[in-house]
Amino acid sequence: MPSDAKPFVIEYESKIRLLMDLRGQGITDPRVLSAIERVPREMFVPEAFRSRAHDNDALPIGHGQTISQPAVVAYMTRELEVGKEMKVLEIGTGSGYQAAVMSRLCRRVYTIERYRALLRQAEKRFDSLRFFNITTRWDDGSRGWPEVAPFERIIVTAAAVDVPPMLLDQLAPGGIMILPVGGDDDEDQQLLKCRKRGEEVDYETLWPVRFVPLLPDTVDDPGR
Ligand code: SAH
Repeated sequence: MPSDAKPFVIEYESKIRLLMDLRGQGITDPRVLSAIERVPREMFVPEAFRSRAHDNDALPIGHGQTISQPAVVAYMTRELEVGKEMKVLEIGTGSGYQAAVMSRLCRRVYTIERYRALLRQAEKRFDSLRFFNITTRWDDGSRGWPEVAPFERIIVTAAAVDVPPMLLDQLAPGGIMILPVGGDDDEDQQLLKCRKRGEEVDYETLWPVRFVPLLPDTVDDPGR
């Protein structure tokens, strides 16, 4: 085996292990598994954590934020029931990993992040992977993206105290929104699935989760 093939083989083996692990946890949807397979998570974690990129763990990405655990990304993507022709809005780009996974399953992902530095890093990853169906914005995502609304799907990857009303307004009829909600005590969060039926909204509580809080305003902080 040529010496430069070795890291690739190790990465490939650890990725297969992750996919089997996800299967074992009940993620059997072939579309979700194939999207996870096609996105190199090692590109979305800081260099220092590269060897752990395929562990089924959340990892720090700087600025006190984290890339979500692969199992959480997979479950949320499955529950979002993303279709090929859909426009999906994500609040909380972070590393860009969740957006990249969803971009393999839908027409376009619009993703908003309040940390300018995190967003710039995510944009570079999308460019180098040639994932051209992701549009980014540096802003407070709780206001949504009115210029391109409505969205068939909305996913929020930071915990709000309650469902942000502007996001619900920007959800298309029949649309689904998934978001963690809970008090200031982050032990207490629940993942909520909202489905818009005409003027009515159905709410379903999925399972307890732990996400960083959804915070107002933008941050232009070059530090880590
Ligand atoms: N989806 C990310 C994980 C996100 S961590 C991934 O796959 O890596 C949550 C992210 O939400 C953080 O980067 C945080 O800065 C961001 N965030 C928190 N409040 C926000 C807001 N009001 N608008 C936009 N982004 C926000």
